[in-house]
Amino acid sequence: MYPQLLFAALIVVGAVSGLDIISRDGWNARPPTNSEAMSNPVPYVVIHHSAEPAACYTKDDCIAAMQTMQHMHQDTNGWADIGYSFGVGGDGNAYEGRGWSKVGAHAPGYNAMSIGICVIGNWMEELPPKNQLDTVHELIQYGVELGMISEDYQLVGHREVKETLCPGDQLYAEITTWDHFVDL
Ligand SMILES: [Zn+2]
Repeated sequence: MYPQLLFAALIVVGAVSGLDIISRDGWNARPPTNSEAMSNPVPYVVIHHSAEPAACYTKDDCIAAMQTMQHMHQDTNGWADIGYSFGVGGDGNAYEGRGWSKVGAHAPGYNAMSIGICVIGNWMEELPPKNQLDTVHELIQYGVELGMISEDYQLVGHREVKETLCPGDQLYAEITTWDHFVDL
């Protein structure tokens, strides 16, 4: 292998170590009823909480949470699919929602130019556990390295773009300290 390629491979492996992204098949997602392609890299990352379902700490419970959200979004809201690009569980796994390159349904005005990450749980009164927050960071970093998220992306909380308590007072306070956070 050429040294440059080896170096590039090491960077990629290093970035994703510890990051597990559970595919749609891995959580038995229903197919979307429709989908719209999104251009990458996107300039925004929007952070959400689920409020409900509550936090999950095992893979089984986080899979159930993803299914519950998809059913609510499809059956109750009438959307094509789960609204988020990804979910992140308290089990430390990331879960593929609409993924990197499909327009989401999570932040009107920003859906076609953002990755929407739902940090599963209600984070009004407490912070997500460290492993869950670490996974959010790793997922964003991986998206940048894949070229799906702009290197100079702007990170916002849902409440900045819509009248909502999302992503919860505690999680919102946390993300205001993160690199790339912007107060819109
Ligand atoms: Zn939200």
